Amino acid sequence: MKKIGFIGLGNMGLPMAKNIINAGIEINAFDKSPKAQEKAASLGMNVKNTVNEVVKDIDALITMLPNDKAVENVFFENNLFDQMDQYSLIIESSTISPEVSKKVSEKAIEKKISILDAPVSGGVKGAELGTLTFIVGGIKEDIEKGYPLFKIMGDKTYHAGPAGSGQIAKLCNNMLLAIHMCGTAETISLGVRNGLDPRVLSEIMKNSSGGNWSLEKYNPFPGVMDGVPASNNYLGGFLNSLMSKDLNLAEDLAKKSKSEAPMGKLAKQIYDELIKQGLGDLDFSSVQKNYMD
Ligand code: NAD
Repeated sequence: MKKIGFIGLGNMGLPMAKNIINAGIEINAFDKSPKAQEKAASLGMNVKNTVNEVVKDIDALITMLPNDKAVENVFFENNLFDQMDQYSLIIESSTISPEVSKKVSEKAIEKKISILDAPVSGGVKGAELGTLTFIVGGIKEDIEKGYPLFKIMGDKTYHAGPAGSGQIAKLCNNMLLAIHMCGTAETISLGVRNGLDPRVLSEIMKNSSGGNWSLEKYNPFPGVMDGVPASNNYLGGFLNSLMSKDLNLAEDLAKKSKSEAPMGKLAKQIYDELIKQGLGDLDFSSVQKNYMD
């Protein structure tokens, strides 16, 4: 691949695109925010004024947008498929509803454009280090086409199933992430309120049957772990607003498939409440604040 398009250069998109530029691939870029445009230009990307200009003469397009609305805006309101070459590839990496994802895929396939829904796990750090996990829906041949790009931006690629499956798997993962983050935060607090040192308790649970990703990689209690948002006033990382969005999408998925998800529902209520408290821009580990004085 020589040249790709990249739309959505926020916390995740910008470092992902940076790794692609560093691998020697040219990028046509667009983001609606002037600040993001400036950052992209400073990294050597060809910043365009419209999404339609981005897709001229490219081998693949990557989109990394916040939600359904932005994805629908980019693909449908701009008639983007009509501007793209047949047999080019779209890697749609935003976390969105499986329904909108399938709608975008159907339109692309109708126009003979290859498409993958490929949401990611691994956070901003993973995006910077090029160690993201891609959770992909689509057909095998298209995953092979996208593989050189997945390899630059990540170190694991999973094929979840047909179009939309990547989003379903991602929502399942994030629902579980929210549940174990909430559980981890309330449990550490329980120990601390009963006289335990949060570092000692975390170490014990991490190496016992309570061990989980939040304890191992993303401890929510301030000062326990270096380099995580909890030790930086919960700044940076994966925002409460994005977690709340994902939990709302997961709840919708549960309703539509008549699945019982009481733990997911409770986690959604907890994150919706953080948004109401005006904490949408803090990292999702800030749920710990609910259990601190
Ligand atoms: P972000 O808000 O930092 O970035 C989104 C970018 O998209 C912004 O720069 C915004 O200006 C741009 N944008 C919005 N609407 C647009 C439009 N219509 N046209 C062009 N540009 C538009 O969000 P992020 O943290 O980079 O997350 C992006 C996606 O990745 C989300 O779907 C999120 O759920 C998912 N995700 C995020 C993380 C994380 O840790 N931040 C981890 C995994 C997955």
